[in-house]
Amino acid sequence: MKETTVHNCEIIRDLLPGYAEQLLSRSGMQAVRDHLDRCPDCQKIHEQMQKEVLETTPSLEDRRALDGFRKIRRRTRHLKLLAAGTLILMLSGVLCGFLMLFVIGKPAGTSWIDFASCSYDEETDSLTIQGHAGNLNIQKVLWEEDDSENTLINVLVYETEALPFTAETHDFTITIPDIKGRDVCLACPNYDRTRIYSWRDDHYELIEQMEEAIRREIDTFDPERNILYCYPYIYDKDGRKWLTFHADRVTGENASWWYWGDRIVTDGDLEPTGYEIWVSLSEPRQILFYDYRNGEWVGDPDDMDMTRTNES
Ligand SMILES: [Zn+2]
Repeated sequence: MKETTVHNCEIIRDLLPGYAEQLLSRSGMQAVRDHLDRCPDCQKIHEQMQKEVLETTPSLEDRRALDGFRKIRRRTRHLKLLAAGTLILMLSGVLCGFLMLFVIGKPAGTSWIDFASCSYDEETDSLTIQGHAGNLNIQKVLWEEDDSENTLINVLVYETEALPFTAETHDFTITIPDIKGRDVCLACPNYDRTRIYSWRDDHYELIEQMEEAIRREIDTFDPERNILYCYPYIYDKDGRKWLTFHADRVTGENASWWYWGDRIVTDGDLEPTGYEIWVSLSEPRQILFYDYRNGEWVGDPDDMDMTRTNES
């Protein structure tokens, strides 16, 4: 019998893990329970095993708690990533804001500029603009050619917030080269523009002298009917600089014309004669005539028919 008992004990001990996990069939569970009641050796082993199982395997409740904990940890990890992403976005936003506010700046509205004085240098054809803005911290001043008007230069005054403990800048000076024939605006993209310099207005005496010279050249020029209009753009030709004039003609009985600002107004019809008149800026003054309908330079101005309009 001893043999059988030892044999039984071996079988029961093999079954103990399943018994501990309650995985055995009902009769298997009963058989192990009966044996344990009778066999103190196996009971000892069973108790030892139960202890270990309790220590290493979490109970169902523990497992649930553990699962919940894992879920929370996973969710926390997601939240952490999200928070880190949000933080990075916010920081870059703050950095951009800081750069815009304190370093890059933005173009100031022209009404913030208290005054801007212009001085033209006849030697270099450059224009120096000095300005003041009491309410702005001026960061930089840039100039650029206008996208649509090729005779126009836009000056952009950029403002920034002053950094703590730094002095604010309220004055600016900028020199723009080669301004001959051009106009200059203080500009703020998208919403306003103020003209501060017009080469044509600054040189009206010169332009008047040129117009007189043109009238003397053309015998057929009728001051009542023919109007000279200076287009303030400087062309290069034959190594010289030229200013161009259009000769327009007023048609209609008893029609007259006058200037409205720098625009020509008439109660008749204004028709171009089809001629362009080029006058050299440098002395000795030279005058050229250009028929832009056939693209030919007119040799003798006396041949120019100023009574002819573009239509006829
Ligand atoms: Zn036993």
